[in-house]
Amino acid sequence: MKVAIIGAGLGGLLTGASLAKDGHEVDIFERLPVYGGRFTNIDCKGFQLSTGALHMVPHGPGGPLASLLRDVGADAEIVRCNPMAVIRVPKNRKEKDYNGGFKDIPFNQFGTQFSLWHRIKLFFLLASTKKNPPTGVSFEEWINHNLNENNARKIADSFCGWALSLRSKDVPVEEAFSIVRNLYKYGGTGVPIGGCKGISDALADVINQNGGHIHLKSEVEEILVEDGAASGVIVGGKEYPADLVISDIGHPQTASLCKNSDIDAEYTRNVEDIKASAGVKICLGANEPLIGHSGVLLTPLCRRINGINEVTNIDPELAPPGKHLVMAHQAVTWDRIGNLEEEIEMGLKDLEELFAGKDYEVLLVQSYHNGWPVNRAASGSDPGNKTPVENLYVVGDGAKGEGGIEIEGIALGVMNTLSLIQ
Ligand SMILES: Cc1cc2nc3c(=O)[nH]c(=O)nc-3n(C[C@H](O)[C@H](O)[C@H](O)COP(=O)(O)OP(=O)(O)OC[C@H]3O[C@@H](n4cnc5c(N)ncnc54)[C@H](O)[C@@H]3O)c2cc1C
Repeated sequence: MKVAIIGAGLGGLLTGASLAKDGHEVDIFERLPVYGGRFTNIDCKGFQLSTGALHMVPHGPGGPLASLLRDVGADAEIVRCNPMAVIRVPKNRKEKDYNGGFKDIPFNQFGTQFSLWHRIKLFFLLASTKKNPPTGVSFEEWINHNLNENNARKIADSFCGWALSLRSKDVPVEEAFSIVRNLYKYGGTGVPIGGCKGISDALADVINQNGGHIHLKSEVEEILVEDGAASGVIVGGKEYPADLVISDIGHPQTASLCKNSDIDAEYTRNVEDIKASAGVKICLGANEPLIGHSGVLLTPLCRRINGINEVTNIDPELAPPGKHLVMAHQAVTWDRIGNLEEEIEMGLKDLEELFAGKDYEVLLVQSYHNGWPVNRAASGSDPGNKTPVENLYVVGDGAKGEGGIEIEGIALGVMNTLSLIQ
């Protein structure tokens, strides 16, 4: 089968590697001069920063992404973080900031921050929701109803901000519970050796070794549709016929490339409403460890920063010798996208306070929204991998699988797409 893939981000590369390995003729068209999309590295003073991701694989070597990488024979190594995550809490549970001192507690001890009554309630809730997961409300509404206290809301916001770049009010409770279920099923975070680029390069190798081609600086201008089925793409005015077209650029952009076809109007209307999640990443270069372990540091009492990692505790080569690469993430809510400078200032202030007296510099501040967001479809709002056009599928973070955090969701979506086209 002849396959045209639009976009060489992680979704396009994973699908391309799988199909090339299965003997299909794969051509990936990427508008940029590099492949990897929001999942590759940028060198900055010898630090390996990234075009997007924080060099973290949400379920480490046990998750869907790692399993797909093994299936295609990609030479990538993902090392499990230890601990998975810690939460920075005030020394006194009732304090509203870190000024009176703080301590870091293991993630699974989050309940210790609740009142005794809510701790007892949490115990019963954990048991009852296993059998009957809640539905129909946002994660925040569920918390307000069941554990109505500020610490619970703050910890939930910090987790959702770090993992999904959303506030808990914007995450459907079903999605939040699926994500937690998957954390137990697959395990916690990991860091790929070589960072994001380690994985993207390994996938590109599989594609090249199996006769596939990644065409850089090649923007797809149109998806060709004949009799309701995709039949190829147009790049630089030239037609590339294909039996199957896979798009890694999200549903709305995919629909807009079907220029001369009567694509289902309801689908076009529905996908126009999809909201991307936005965020800010602040990269620090440090002359000493700022965290001291490889797990995520969740910071529920910060003004803006949701979490921070220090990936050089797993792969020291992501920084010059003796230095550390530390990355902080903050979700930006949709109503604040117009105030990015203020959001960034608040994030920087958080870091100044958290790492007061430490020896570090700010290497780069990156903001992500609109066409280059954190996720093309906010988690829990993904419309799946199918389109109304036969032989045209969408992969990537605009079409993740249920309960799939970030790139784990991309891997679940790619697995689903592969099963649909077989
Ligand atoms: C700040 C930040 C932190 C993150 N942290 C993490 C993390 O730690 N862990 C994690 O799991 N995930 C993380 N993510 C999410 C993760 O980076 C993305 O979900 C993932 O990289 C998206 O991959 P993709 O293939 O869906 O899309 P993309 O990477 O956007 O790939 C799509 C590609 O298509 C190309 N393209 C677009 N239009 C066309 C066209 N018409 N023709 C040809 N090519 C086209 C683009 O140039 C791009 O290269 C983070 C994201 C951000 C922004």
